Amino acid sequence: MIEAVTGIRRIRMLYLQLLYRCNFNCGHCFHGERLKHADAFTAEQARNLMRLMQRQHGTEAVTLLGGEPFVYKDLAHVVRYAKCTLGLAVEICTNGYRIGPRLREIAPCVDLLRISLEGIGNTNDLIRRAGSYAAALESITLARNLGIQIGATLTVNRYNIGEVADLARTLETLGVSQLKLHQLRPVGNAALRPEMLVTDPADYSVMRDQLQRTALGIDVVLDEDLSEDGARACAAPSARHEIDRIESDPRGALTMSCKAVGKDSHAFWYDKDADCIVHLPSSNDEVMLGIPDVVYSHA
Ligand code: SF4
Repeated sequence: MIEAVTGIRRIRMLYLQLLYRCNFNCGHCFHGERLKHADAFTAEQARNLMRLMQRQHGTEAVTLLGGEPFVYKDLAHVVRYAKCTLGLAVEICTNGYRIGPRLREIAPCVDLLRISLEGIGNTNDLIRRAGSYAAALESITLARNLGIQIGATLTVNRYNIGEVADLARTLETLGVSQLKLHQLRPVGNAALRPEMLVTDPADYSVMRDQLQRTALGIDVVLDEDLSEDGARACAAPSARHEIDRIESDPRGALTMSCKAVGKDSHAFWYDKDADCIVHLPSSNDEVMLGIPDVVYSHA
C-alpha cells in the first residue's frame, strides 16, 4: 500500500512503539497525555508487523521503544522473534531505569541498547525522576559488561544545552559509542513547558563549538535542526523509492518522518486485525504536507 501511494519500496528500519505506558512522565515527553493510554501491541501483532515490513519493504532492523519497552511484559518474546526468526538487527530505546534482570535475559539478542538521558545528575533527574541518572549509568555499565553495544540519546533543551559536551565525555568513559542529539519540539508535554525550548539558534552554535573543542572519541550525531545549516524546508516523501525509517505508534498509526511523530499526521495505519497497511489520507497527513525526513550529521 505504501509503495502504491508514494513509490517507496524499501524502508530500512521499523521503529515499533510497543506501548504508551512508561514508568516516567518526563517534562519534555512527546507522548504527553498518551502516556496514560492503554493502547499497545500484543506480542502477536508486533510479530506480524515486523514480518510484514520485512516481506513488503525489505526492512532489516527494528528499534523497540514506547513508552518504556522494559515495562512491556512480552519484550523478551518480541526481541527473540525479531532476532532469531526474522534475523533483524535489534535496537531497544529505554530510559534505563531498573532494567537489569530483563536485560540479562535478552542480552544475546540485542544489537544496540540506546539509553535516553536529559542531562547530568540533577538536570536529568528534575526532568525525569529522582535517581534516574544513577540508574541509567548503572544500566550502561551492565550493558557494557554483557557485551551489548551502547548508544545514548538526549533531547536538547534550555536546561541541558550547556552540559552536552560534558555528558558526551562522561558517556565516552563508560564505553558508549554514540550520542544522538534531538531538537526539542513543542509537542506532548513539551507543549506545556515552553520555558524548556531553546529559542535562540545561537545557543546551538555555542553547543557545537563546545563539542568540537572537547575532542571526543564518542560519535556525536545531531539532527539537522541542531546543525549549522539547519533543516531543509521541504522534501516530499513521494520523491524517493527508499527511506530510512517508519515508526508505528501503539495504535498502529504509521509515521515516516520523525518531524511528524506526535503530530497525528499519519497517512498510513497498520490494521492490527487484518495484518495489513491501509491508506487513510487527510489534508493534514505527512504525505500531503510533504514533511521532510530528519537528516543527521556528525559533530
Ligand atoms: S520521554 Fe521516554 S522515558 Fe520519558 S516519559 Fe516519555 S517515553 Fe517515558
